[in-house]
Amino acid sequence: MLQPVPPATRQDQLSYITGHADSPWLTYLAQVDRVVPYLGPLARWAETLRRPKRALIVDVPIEMDDGTVRHFEGFRVQHNLSRGPGKGGVRYHPQVTLEEVMALAAWMTVKNAAVGLPYGGAKGGIRVDPTQLSHKELERMTRRYTSEIGIVIGPQQDIPAPDVNTNPQIMAWMMDTYSMNIGGTATGVVTGKPIQLGGSLGRVKATGRGVFEVGREAARRIGLPVQGARIAVQGFGNVGGVAAELFAEAGAKVVAVQDHTGGLYKGDGLDVVRLSAHVREHHGVAGFQDAEVLGGDDFWGVDCDILIPAALEGQLTEARARRTKAKMVLEGANGPTLPAADDVFNDRGILVVPDVICNAGGVTVSYFEWVQDFSSFFWSEDEINARLERILVGAFVAIWETAERLKVPLRTAAFVVACERVLQARAERGLYP
Ligand code: GLU
Repeated sequence: MLQPVPPATRQDQLSYITGHADSPWLTYLAQVDRVVPYLGPLARWAETLRRPKRALIVDVPIEMDDGTVRHFEGFRVQHNLSRGPGKGGVRYHPQVTLEEVMALAAWMTVKNAAVGLPYGGAKGGIRVDPTQLSHKELERMTRRYTSEIGIVIGPQQDIPAPDVNTNPQIMAWMMDTYSMNIGGTATGVVTGKPIQLGGSLGRVKATGRGVFEVGREAARRIGLPVQGARIAVQGFGNVGGVAAELFAEAGAKVVAVQDHTGGLYKGDGLDVVRLSAHVREHHGVAGFQDAEVLGGDDFWGVDCDILIPAALEGQLTEARARRTKAKMVLEGANGPTLPAADDVFNDRGILVVPDVICNAGGVTVSYFEWVQDFSSFFWSEDEINARLERILVGAFVAIWETAERLKVPLRTAAFVVACERVLQARAERGLYP
């Protein structure tokens, strides 16, 4: 009889992993440990989940505007390709590490499988503060990075997309560079492109829209009316800002926001449309007039019903999870909740809607973009938004039902649904040779 592989102990770490306590990779591994007991005979293949299939580290040297040469550290990790080509964004951030990109790639594997998209999981990143680069330097860095990872990406191999600090312009440069290198026009090599280059309507707002759609369904299921609900949002970019706008349109009050520039509070609800305009102009929430300034950690103790972490990993620590007054957490960010915080939320009866379903709207519309590029036939925005809602809410309901059946938190349920699909594909494909 086939025996399941016992869960890896943290001593079984891959040799190049630091094992640093707040490593997102360790958070991911802890999440995998929690799902293995539910995988039955498929647990035989669980070790597949605990290591990336392929990880590429690239040197990205560019000439700066002042004539000097600088080298940046770039990564592309393909965590799993059992169900289809790699898919996941590219992040530009000064704290990017291989370990972080590995975790983000792994969460893409789980996310794509949880939603039922025909992709594996991948992610890329460059360790850089893009605000310190000129437009031309940003273009040169993006093009050199794309050329360096050109050996592993492609419309059928691995399809990058935007993530933190990357956008449609950067995707246009990536598409152009890849196309120049292969001697053709390959629109399907990246998603999140400008509309003129084969981008999809609705892609820019898709992640925030997905947070709202899934959040509304989750709220309905716990009997929390969206009308009048108080919302606290961390991160006011493409995810948090859009989700906040949609919740405000639906009658919720966005009472607190926090980003890398500061925090704001307004008990009867911030004017989200004006705040979005302020953020576009000033690149942060700081300095917005019509609100009180909210200092540092006070954000986490704010009186709210729904908490939306939509910035970076590891923000919800055990202490912050104990402090929050929210009834529900909607993970707009990837990996915002540490495993110890998950336990606190569970004990306190606070519903956590995990990243792998909550923020899957972006990659879902990326999938629509890729399909449209292949067929060279483009859909209307209404059609895209309707399909997005149908797919995401359908996937959420399946996860909800799994959670009820197994009596586990939504995150474990999402991992059960996803890992069964990934490992089933793994088992059916078999080992080569
Ligand atoms: N970066 C987004 C995510 O974390 C989208 C990835 C994609 O569209 O491929 O899900």
